Amino acid sequence: MSPTEKTPRQFQAEVCKVLHILTNSLYTNREVFLRELVSNASDALDKLRYRMNRGEQPCLPDLPLEIRISIDKDAKTLTIADTGLGMSADELAENLGTIAKSGSEQFLADLAAAKNAQDENSPPDAANIIGRFGVGFYSVFMVAKKVEVTSRPAFGESTDAHVWSSDGLGTYTVEPAAADAPERGTTIKAWLKDDATEFLENFRVESTIRKHSAFVPFPVLLDGQKVNTQPALWREPKFSVTEEQYEGFYKALTYDSKAPLDVLHFSVDVPVQFSALLFIPDTAQDFFGADRDFWGLDLYTRRVLIQNRNQDLIPEYLAFLKGVVDSEDLPLNISRETLQENAVLRKIRQVIVKQALGNLEKLARDDEEKYRRFWTLHGKVFKLGYHDFAQRERVSALLRFNTSALPDAEALSSLDQYMERAPEGQKTFWYVAAPNREAARLNPHMERFARKGIEVLWLYEPVDEFVMDGLGKYKDWDFMSVETATDQALDAFADKEEHKAAAPLSEDDASSFDALLERMKEILEDRVAGVRVSHRLTDSPAVLVSPDGGISSSMEKLIKVMQKDDSVPVKTLEVNRDHPLLRNMLRIFKADSGDRTLAHMTQALFDASLLQDGYLKDPQALAGRSNKLLEEAAAWYVEVRKLSA
Ligand code: ADP
Ligand code: MG
Repeated sequence: MSPTEKTPRQFQAEVCKVLHILTNSLYTNREVFLRELVSNASDALDKLRYRMNRGEQPCLPDLPLEIRISIDKDAKTLTIADTGLGMSADELAENLGTIAKSGSEQFLADLAAAKNAQDENSPPDAANIIGRFGVGFYSVFMVAKKVEVTSRPAFGESTDAHVWSSDGLGTYTVEPAAADAPERGTTIKAWLKDDATEFLENFRVESTIRKHSAFVPFPVLLDGQKVNTQPALWREPKFSVTEEQYEGFYKALTYDSKAPLDVLHFSVDVPVQFSALLFIPDTAQDFFGADRDFWGLDLYTRRVLIQNRNQDLIPEYLAFLKGVVDSEDLPLNISRETLQENAVLRKIRQVIVKQALGNLEKLARDDEEKYRRFWTLHGKVFKLGYHDFAQRERVSALLRFNTSALPDAEALSSLDQYMERAPEGQKTFWYVAAPNREAARLNPHMERFARKGIEVLWLYEPVDEFVMDGLGKYKDWDFMSVETATDQALDAFADKEEHKAAAPLSEDDASSFDALLERMKEILEDRVAGVRVSHRLTDSPAVLVSPDGGISSSMEKLIKVMQKDDSVPVKTLEVNRDHPLLRNMLRIFKADSGDRTLAHMTQALFDASLLQDGYLKDPQALAGRSNKLLEEAAAWYVEVRKLSA
């Protein structure tokens, strides 16, 4: 069926869902529909201008590029017209009848999240959600009971105009437009609902445009009067721009309702000419999830938009930056396809990286609180800067860590501060990966470091160990996991804490202990690579260790996950010869080397070490073994206390 027949067509199912929500459950901030329609009009004008700059001829090339809004109080209609790119009949059906699937899914998910975050009485705020996911147009149905979109394409074989029409309930029609249709571009006419007649008031529409669309780069005229007056802010000299203007521009650019954390505004002439206005948001983004592709800077040349969210202008680790870059040195007719290989862009990127790092260094130096905020919000992506070989030293200096020497989980240290605190002779950044501070503190590998008062970086995110690995060195110091520390690694550092040393073993007992270790290996068979005496433990009876110089257990786990390998790695069991449990096991062993309970205890000790290492392969068997031990212990207790039946 041709889309130009007057037969109603069904909206795609996703559109119906989105429409249903927009019309039924979003009541706050309905005014954002205007922002969406104006921004679509502005996009259409941008696209037209871009193609004209590339040498294409539109129909009526001399028509001014502008957006006209008009109000008809009697008919209760609001009309938004642009002289932009326009749409053919097929494009009307395609663009206003479907949504890119990911867009609608993300929209619905975000909406659900916003709903959950609010109390039931206040409906979710539309402003932050609409417009990000290719559903902006449909927001007009929050205020309109009927909408007509008349559009005439600026390019193409046929520049016939068509009308798309719908009440937003489930169907729409597309048919040829009347002869008096606009000469070029798109005109959207909305018949307002009875509860939305506020948008028939001139001042209401005007203030909404001033609030949400102040930075649209084309004239917006309301009943003939120009309402947007803001210049291209990034081209203005820094001293002439007020904080309010920066904030307004940032909010218009990002739809963020919070002011930015920091602003970077600069202009350079060598090696390339460009101006940049960049912001560090005061809100977190999820570049590993929903915001995966939602980054990059808007690229202009001589105030003409070339591309939204260009990702060649900044490396991924600066993805948190939002803003605009405008260069005189790019040709106006540049194609988006060739941007990637463009040498000018590469140079711009280098300058931006240096400026951004310089700005962060200044922040870290002058405003610790603000830098901490930056780190909390954006540290997760910024860390990925360890990839940037040329900037590795600078990125490393900007990293922050929670450590064993800090008073709480919120406190942060730089690598330089760690170095200052380290004792004479230390040349290694020691770290341990753990899900949280408490787990890090209880890690048996930490005991030796605690005893010697050597500070350890505590890594709470899986990526952190890759960062340590990737950095390799900082200022000549190595990075090393406490788990892979050799016995000798810390010999040079004396114990700080006086730990109550157990009585030394007699020569005889020492050799019996060696035999006990052999017996334990026999019991555990090839589940362990060996059993040996540990020098790293104070309070724990045993710990599993990787071969010296191997990788840490959390890194090993990550690799196993990636390789879909669920086997338990075979490690060496190290036991604490001074621990009361081991001393008693020695007594049992000396009395009877084949004792059954000794075997149970060895097994349980191994189970517990495996658990601490993060592996729980066979919980049923483990529970069975521990119950067996309890049964034996209870029987002895009854006997020892001479309790009656
Ligand atoms: P988005 O703007 O995120 O793509 P919208 O729902 O706002 O999503 O618009 C959907 C599509 O409809 C746009 O991508 C564009 O192709 C088309 N469109 C909307 N308004 C106009 C307009 N005024 N002129 C030309 N095309 C438009
Ligand atoms: Mg839009």
